[in-house]
Amino acid sequence: MYFYNISSSKKVLHLSDCRYIKSSDDSNVGYFYSLSCAINKGYRPCHHCFTLIGRFAEEKERINKYCTRYNYNYSYSKDSVEISTGKGQWKIIQEKIGQSIELFHKNTQNRNSDCYSKIPGYHNQKIIENEMVDYIHYICSHDGINKKPPAIGTKKYKKIQKKRAAAKKRNSINNVLCLIDSLNINR
Ligand SMILES: [Zn+2]
Repeated sequence: MYFYNISSSKKVLHLSDCRYIKSSDDSNVGYFYSLSCAINKGYRPCHHCFTLIGRFAEEKERINKYCTRYNYNYSYSKDSVEISTGKGQWKIIQEKIGQSIELFHKNTQNRNSDCYSKIPGYHNQKIIENEMVDYIHYICSHDGINKKPPAIGTKKYKKIQKKRAAAKKRNSINNVLCLIDSLNINR
């Protein structure tokens, strides 16, 4: 769950172990079940308790623009951003506040050496950039535009259909969570 201070107009979102939430009175704390729902409602992840996602939220519009133009799918959790380009899978992670961001790459063909990586199946791309959007830019220059959809009936086509169905399912779960959130807010 993701927490915020009811009496603050700043719309900052925290994790449960953040000192701001720990020092707040319980009656003053509201919560969301869904991270994306909170972000869509204009809440900004706190820089003290969230790491990567705080930066992601700040650059979300630019990242979104890139991914739409290049036809990439992306998803995010509280400590990683995942991008799927059609040619490969990418993970942007930051383990702790103050630590550098790392970019991990997974080819469509598995490499044996990647099995023992920090993120199994992925290898560290060893790229250091300033901004989140620069990592996306790097990915775009690496994988290029994903323009041609695969022909109907092919393996790739079926894989994408399967992925879309899974995403649809995730979205509907998220919608239910958002609904629960809005009920909680209106109470
Ligand atoms: Zn916080």
